[in-house]
Amino acid sequence: MSRFWSPLVHRLTPYVAGEQPVVQDLVKLNTNENPYGPSPRAIAAIRAEAGDGLRLYPDPHATILRQAIAVGLGVQADQVFVGNGSDEVLAHAFQGLLNHDGPLLFPDITYSFYPVYCGLYGIAYREIPIDAAMQVDVDDYAGPCGAIILPNPNAPTGSALPLSAIRRLVEAHPDQVVVVDEAYVDFGGESAVPLVADHPNLLVIQTFSKSRSLAGLRVGFAIGQRHLIEALERVKDSFNSYPLDRLAIVGAVASYEDTGWFEETRGRVMASRQRLFEALNELGFEILPSAANFVFARHPAHRGADLAKGLRAQSVIVRHFAKPRIEDFLRISIGTDAQCDRLIAALKTLV
Ligand code: PMP
Repeated sequence: MSRFWSPLVHRLTPYVAGEQPVVQDLVKLNTNENPYGPSPRAIAAIRAEAGDGLRLYPDPHATILRQAIAVGLGVQADQVFVGNGSDEVLAHAFQGLLNHDGPLLFPDITYSFYPVYCGLYGIAYREIPIDAAMQVDVDDYAGPCGAIILPNPNAPTGSALPLSAIRRLVEAHPDQVVVVDEAYVDFGGESAVPLVADHPNLLVIQTFSKSRSLAGLRVGFAIGQRHLIEALERVKDSFNSYPLDRLAIVGAVASYEDTGWFEETRGRVMASRQRLFEALNELGFEILPSAANFVFARHPAHRGADLAKGLRAQSVIVRHFAKPRIEDFLRISIGTDAQCDRLIAALKTLV
């Protein structure tokens, strides 16, 4: 460790992102990317923008993108905040909305970036264990707190809460901000966006990385009432006025407007999820119900670490978390049917 580092940097426990190998012939099912690629209209829009115009700064407010999202979701453009991936939108929410006196509550197990941001921004937190069926129970979030954040569907379990449960949670804490991270909602979850109009304490965050297959472009957004969005804007404008570049803005707009591509590809992912579920079931895996573009599964007779290693040796990568309670699970992103078949063939040699 360097003596030149600040004490803050010494104390950090950074997020460890999934592997992004350069090897070509891998079946890459480890970071919940979409196997079908972005809308061809998005690619065309990015190509058209990639010219002399790049000498100009982008629109700091990404107005055309916020308008497109607002039209799609039936909200006002000033109720939309966009950022460089939902990770950045989350970071601004942690800085501007979730750093209250009481502890921030989130599930244990959940997206592992949440405690990382708490460490970075000095936010006290309390983890609420998911129940015996590995589901979030919103009634466990009763009592005083500073704010609440949870993904719906949850990660890495894939389990989704119905909208009625989210409404109960938001209404039980009228004086606290409740952030619902909907990174995976388009694969079978129920979005809380319709609750925003009546609930001033609700912020919903979504991303273009999963259902729109634009993880490489880095675009995420939040929907909330104006006073919450204003907080995010203040943080953003104190950090980076231009989080979205010109290519990201036009690509995301074209992607958002291509509802045909969106519907077709997310339908394919959901059909492949069902097929994979059945194949894993036949191999003796226990699989949690999933409303996301991944499944979370364990085999009663095999350690998760061994299975992940055995798959890696056969050029199939999945995510394994060495965390108590989930250490025997594999998180497997939904690939094409051909990729899922290669995964199953490799697993057959291991279980
Ligand atoms: N939230 C959750 C629950 C996630 O799993 C992810 C993806 N790792 C993100 C947010 C961030 O996604 P992105 O920054 O690509 O929008």
